[in-house]
Amino acid sequence: MRIMSLKRSDLSQLVKQLASDQFAVVAPSLREDLLAFYRVKSVDEIHFDHINTKLSLKEWFLPRWEAVCSFRTKKKDVELQDAPETGEEIVLFGARPCDAASLPIMDKVYAWDYQDRFWQDRRERTTLVSISCLDCDEACFCTSVGGHPGSTEGSDILLTPVGDDKFLVEVITEKGEALVKRCAELFQEGTADKEAALRAVVEKLGKKFEHARIKPWLDDNFFHPFWEKNTLHCIGCGTCTFVCPTCHCFDIIDEGDFFRGKRVKNWDACQFRTFTVHASGHNPRPRQDERHRQRIMHKYKYYVEKFGVTLCTGCGRCVRYCPVDLSIIGLLQSIDRRKASAA
Ligand code: SF4
Ligand code: SF4
Repeated sequence: MRIMSLKRSDLSQLVKQLASDQFAVVAPSLREDLLAFYRVKSVDEIHFDHINTKLSLKEWFLPRWEAVCSFRTKKKDVELQDAPETGEEIVLFGARPCDAASLPIMDKVYAWDYQDRFWQDRRERTTLVSISCLDCDEACFCTSVGGHPGSTEGSDILLTPVGDDKFLVEVITEKGEALVKRCAELFQEGTADKEAALRAVVEKLGKKFEHARIKPWLDDNFFHPFWEKNTLHCIGCGTCTFVCPTCHCFDIIDEGDFFRGKRVKNWDACQFRTFTVHASGHNPRPRQDERHRQRIMHKYKYYVEKFGVTLCTGCGRCVRYCPVDLSIIGLLQSIDRRKASAA
């Protein structure tokens, strides 16, 4: 890893230069009251003063809707055509470390039993320049799930604001090196005390629960009145899954008619009543508390067993935006207390 520095006043030139090269620059921007990742042409369009975006960077790797192939019938034959690749190189700028950390977690599932070329292709074509967090709110809990407001996990370059006028630049991967080389005149060799810059936010974050105690309780309590008591009020809107950087379920359907159409992927959510309905009409998770139990089990038990990591980076979005205040922090704290008092 190489440590460099970048003047805040040079950010504008950096974005301009990248956007005028072959890159599409994507960054947090506020459009019609929605703070999310959009294409930008200049630094003036980028929103910096926020804890986190409302939508995560996920949709730049896993779009909400995407055609995987198209089909056309010709007499008795069916002609299939793969979806075209855009080949566009992207610099995704300004993601928080909890969003960057979601990418290597999702790489595991998209390069597991099936190699998902759509995901992998976008991962290869994207250089991720993240920015450390100097502040947090009560919904953030990265430090309780092994993260950190200055974590380099998943980023190609991490910028940490130091003082009012510059960033400490950690160049983490070859893609990061290539980007720095391209705009070499804007970067200087540098050192700075990153920990000192982040000390206040790390203290403010604290630790909300003991992560190591969660899975052992889940292992033993698939059937427990806890689920009905604490999660039956979920209204199954799916907001928590759609704003989550690590939720990755999709449905595949054919759109069109007998003669032509497309096979498309759409985001889906385990919180929807129809998510597990069988063709027979049977639903193995007929109740909302069972569907919510699945969300927690998938993130804190099944994914850990399969891939060795938790399917949650503590970004806090599901806590911030749940319309019925069903807080995953509250659930995990409650599980933690039960396990602690049983020990
Ligand atoms: S489960 Fe909630 S806190 Fe964890 S990554 Fe998803 S949205 Fe963020
Ligand atoms: S937990 Fe909240 S956000 Fe998630 S589906 Fe239920 S009501 Fe919606």
